[in-house]
Amino acid sequence: MVIVLKDGASKTQIDELIGWLTRFDVKSNLVEGVHSKIIGLIGDTTSVDIESVQAKEIVETVKRVQEPYKNANRRFHPLDTVIDVRGRKLGGDRLQVIAGPCSVETEEQTIKTAIAVKEAGATMLRGGAFKPRTSPYAFQGLGKEGIEILKKARAETGLPIVTEIMDVSDIDLFDDVDVIQVGARNSQNFTLLKALGRLKKPILLKRGLSGTLQELLMSAEYIMSEGNDQVILCERGIRTFETATRNVLDLAAVPLLKQKTHLPITVDPSHATGIASLIEPCALGAIAVGAHALEIEVHIDPEHAWSDGAQSLTPAAFSKTMDKIRAMAEFCGRSV
Ligand code: PEP
Ligand code: MN
Repeated sequence: MVIVLKDGASKTQIDELIGWLTRFDVKSNLVEGVHSKIIGLIGDTTSVDIESVQAKEIVETVKRVQEPYKNANRRFHPLDTVIDVRGRKLGGDRLQVIAGPCSVETEEQTIKTAIAVKEAGATMLRGGAFKPRTSPYAFQGLGKEGIEILKKARAETGLPIVTEIMDVSDIDLFDDVDVIQVGARNSQNFTLLKALGRLKKPILLKRGLSGTLQELLMSAEYIMSEGNDQVILCERGIRTFETATRNVLDLAAVPLLKQKTHLPITVDPSHATGIASLIEPCALGAIAVGAHALEIEVHIDPEHAWSDGAQSLTPAAFSKTMDKIRAMAEFCGRSV
């Protein structure tokens, strides 16, 4: 339900109205600034009879809006959400570049990569400690030890760390992780999403392998409905009939999501394409269509990477790509 207020409604009247509405077990959200005339109400509002609302003299109109997702919906939260990750703002004017290896393999490999991506201008470090692999015989990640290595890399470089959780039972291991990633395969693991919703920590939620945008937004809603509003969405390519690339990068998803939601949007051109030479052009395209952040795989020795070497940039290639990323960001009125 959206309540549009008349011009000249005072703060006291608005507070009185909100106070009165909370009796109906609705979570009210008064959006300040340009939208100060709108109150979005989330929850079971069918019981609210606006005719009996106190201070109804300040109410212009009441629109009943039926939307499947509410917390993630721009209609109820017109202003962009900006998430602070150790001082880096995700969702605002600055473009964030999350770079690092697919998997944390060794301390040396991770720290060398972290130093290299930092020097090239990356603003956060990624690295998988728990790896969702297609084959049970492939490298499954270092687990807890991998997270410890990422923390060392953070201490060395100051870069916030982003790493994937696969199982709700591991949640305590992520206490000191800056951003918890939910991978494409767990995008609809609702038990996991609800548990992450009870944390006070940014969650980078990837689109499912064949997930629609509506499903992605509903997954974000699972996290947010538990109280955690720090959700970052990630377009990482979807499965289609095309096999030339690992997935098909859905760039239109970025501006469309930005219309539908106030949450920050990331694009991962590495998993979207599976091909290192396509990362740069797709990253530039992602900036052009308005992505708030990029997630890019970088490995000190891609040929010998334990996972996803074919889609990993060398530090030198990443550095060149960062030059183009900066130029494109500037062209689009943003900065890294
Ligand atoms: C990853 O980022 O390491 C990963 C496995 O990506 P996705 O879940 O998008 O396949
Ligand atoms: Mn990978």
